[in-house]
Amino acid sequence: MDLSIIIPLLNEDESLPELSAWIERVLIENSLSYEVIFIDDGSTDNSWNVIEDISQKYNCFKGIKFQRNYGKSAALNEGFKAAKGDVVITMDADLQDSPDEIPELRKMIIEDGFDIVSGWKKKRYDNTLTKNIPSKIFNAAARLSSGIKLHDFNCGLKAYKRKVVKSIEVFGEMHRYIPVIAKGAGFKKIGEKVVEHRARKYGVTKFGWERFVNGFLDLFTISFVNKFGKRPMHFFGLWGTIFFLIGLSSFVYLIAAKFIDSDFSLTNKPAFYIALTAVIGGMQLFLSGFVAELVARNAAERNVYLIEDKIGLF
Ligand code: UDP
Ligand code: MG
Repeated sequence: MDLSIIIPLLNEDESLPELSAWIERVLIENSLSYEVIFIDDGSTDNSWNVIEDISQKYNCFKGIKFQRNYGKSAALNEGFKAAKGDVVITMDADLQDSPDEIPELRKMIIEDGFDIVSGWKKKRYDNTLTKNIPSKIFNAAARLSSGIKLHDFNCGLKAYKRKVVKSIEVFGEMHRYIPVIAKGAGFKKIGEKVVEHRARKYGVTKFGWERFVNGFLDLFTISFVNKFGKRPMHFFGLWGTIFFLIGLSSFVYLIAAKFIDSDFSLTNKPAFYIALTAVIGGMQLFLSGFVAELVARNAAERNVYLIEDKIGLF
């Protein structure tokens, strides 16, 4: 199978028929073998009935329905598990992404050899103040911390080599950082394509202002986990040591000063408080490091490696 198209959705019943007809047309024009997998993320409107009708009407349209709303990341993860195509494409269900982009995205994976191609909504049709400006800041931070040169990390329209989606796990709200997760797993060829973005025709956005707070928190987490997930003590121990050294040098200074001048009062000096907090802080960091090592040691994926190729061993 050439293509799997994964579409997570929450209460998008109005868009689905139009979206399906459009996808079907594009893929048949390009003579590609494909499947479309809708993941209904606990919709409370008519979406699931609409998906049932669509799957009767077109052969290759399938659906998974969650018992309740688990979030876009969970929906994508479930779609990744189910996908059978050589190239996997994700897109939003609200008609903001254009199915016309699919053939070109696929070409970039197959012919240009990209592991991931991310869409870039260069010209956006969203509310400028609440979305476009925060999203610029957010993307700059993600670029800086991950070293991946993408303009639009959170674009719903992306294409992947099959191997990428089978090797990563998306949970929480980490769908914003799939390229970062994939880079952490060793997939380095990450490309970008300017895609057409359209105004939302039906329904409303499912993400409010919390997206920015959560997005930044997740960025910290993911940068940390990618780097130190398997060796947390190297992070906590380093900072713990730095704190201890600061504390120790303050103590040495205080004691030396006391020796030189016996009237020197220890407890009303800034160095005294610095020494105290630095030693306590350093100890906390070391304890966190030990606990984190115990957690990492028991993690199911502590010995999961992705094998790129083998010679003589099959
Ligand atoms: N979505 C989802 N589960 C959620 C929230 C959103 O499956 O909990 C889907 C939604 O139906 C849409 C896509 O994720 O297909 C992107 O959501 P939305 O259009 O609301 O985001 P925006 O375009 O405003 O960033
Ligand atoms: Mg949208």
